Amino acid sequence: MVRTRVAPSPTGDPHVGTGYMALFSYCYAKAHGGEFLLRIEDTDVARSTQQSEEVILASLKWLGLDWDEGPDIGGPKGPYRQSERLPIYQAHVQQLVDAGHAFHCFCTRERLDEMRKQQIASGETARYDGACAGLSQSEVDANLAKGLPSVVRMKVPETGICVIQDRLRGDIEIDYSQIDMQVLQKADGFPTYHLAVVVDDHLMEITHIIRGEEWINSAPKHQLLYEYFGWSMPELIHMPLLRNPDKSKLSKRKNPTSIRYYKDMGFMPEAVVNYLGMLGWSLPSGEEKFPLSDMVANFDISRISMGAPVFDVEKLKWLNGRWLRETLDDDALADRLVEWALNRDKLLEIIPLIKERVEVFSDVAPLAAFLLEGLPEISVESFAKLKTPPETTLKILQFSLWQLEQVTAWQSSDLQARLKHLADIMDVKIRDLLGPLFIALSGRPVAPPLFDSMQVLGPDMTRARIRAAIEVLGGVSKKQTKKLDAEYRGLGHKK
Ligand code: GLU
Repeated sequence: MVRTRVAPSPTGDPHVGTGYMALFSYCYAKAHGGEFLLRIEDTDVARSTQQSEEVILASLKWLGLDWDEGPDIGGPKGPYRQSERLPIYQAHVQQLVDAGHAFHCFCTRERLDEMRKQQIASGETARYDGACAGLSQSEVDANLAKGLPSVVRMKVPETGICVIQDRLRGDIEIDYSQIDMQVLQKADGFPTYHLAVVVDDHLMEITHIIRGEEWINSAPKHQLLYEYFGWSMPELIHMPLLRNPDKSKLSKRKNPTSIRYYKDMGFMPEAVVNYLGMLGWSLPSGEEKFPLSDMVANFDISRISMGAPVFDVEKLKWLNGRWLRETLDDDALADRLVEWALNRDKLLEIIPLIKERVEVFSDVAPLAAFLLEGLPEISVESFAKLKTPPETTLKILQFSLWQLEQVTAWQSSDLQARLKHLADIMDVKIRDLLGPLFIALSGRPVAPPLFDSMQVLGPDMTRARIRAAIEVLGGVSKKQTKKLDAEYRGLGHKK
């Protein structure tokens, strides 16, 4: 029985890359009459949030990629949330330690930093030097009894070549000398990704791992762990990464990357899924528009293209237009529009913001339009009337964006408190801070109260509009970003 999985980490917005991996994993399983699982990889406690998990699940569901087992519906191989599986990992780590495949490491941060520095200075690959691998059992016991903090690392052969088989790339050779003695269990007892992914893929009986090519370099560690446990390794299929039009790795600076943004923009899920499929795969007929069911029915892994797939919003729009015109009659389109935003619930969010200024019903549309549109039409001139000089305007937008990327509970009062705080530490008047934001978000001289509007727009649309405004003002280069970042951190902020 073929079993595949998608294993997102709930540390941010639901990324289109997650949708892409989920889609290919889904198709592979369904084309073989198999099962597709969803597992939440939340072992990074500091960065994982419940909200992020919720939107990831909702976004994958919106795309129509239903899973057979997962944290929300359970299943025979659960739990499907890694934070609920700690005893399982700890027992497996212990098993590796007992068998001599892993060891406790008591090295301090200072020692590790110093070691790294020296290795880099002498042109070596920075990797753990194995100091603690040679400790005797009594030394380890004594250290543990003293309560010295420790991590557990895996052993790695010192010489030789590791051969990884990838279904799309054939054999990949990686020298063992390039592979680090990976930490498997952190000092707080939590597993790292590498340990947890291997244990879970095995226990959940995953047969094929479909994931991004950025994980290829981790495969030797995983392969070693499978060997140490005496398990057979699932087949590996590393997909080419999604790219920006300039071929750099897909990033939110250059493209909206959150699935929820496309939902808020009013894309059809069928078109988004079709587009993600089209980026890496094609129907034998060459037809670009196809429903998920056709992709499943015709799925053949050998048709995956190895070229760098460029995520091009214009092409996606074109495809969405086809879906809209070719598959929705007027009646169905009316239903979709109601479902999207032209509904009573949305009106009830908007009415309190505009009621004060409405005299007749026909005042509503112009006042509410910006809450329903995509990216407002703005230009450099839109910002000309502001008192802040252009440089400061750009800085205000960038700093506000960084602030807003930290917000998890998207409530008007929290947004207000954050931006007020930002104004204080930047030592600018709140009015001056909100001016550029107001233009970026509404594109109009008059609009309803800013924080309430941001709440209605939601996090993805709000941030996308601020990013778009930054671009309109000339963008922020890598060098400028570095400078701004330093200044921002100087204000006492973690980005
Ligand atoms: N949690 C990893 C991620 O979010 C999963 C990688 C994998 O599929 O093994 O990318």
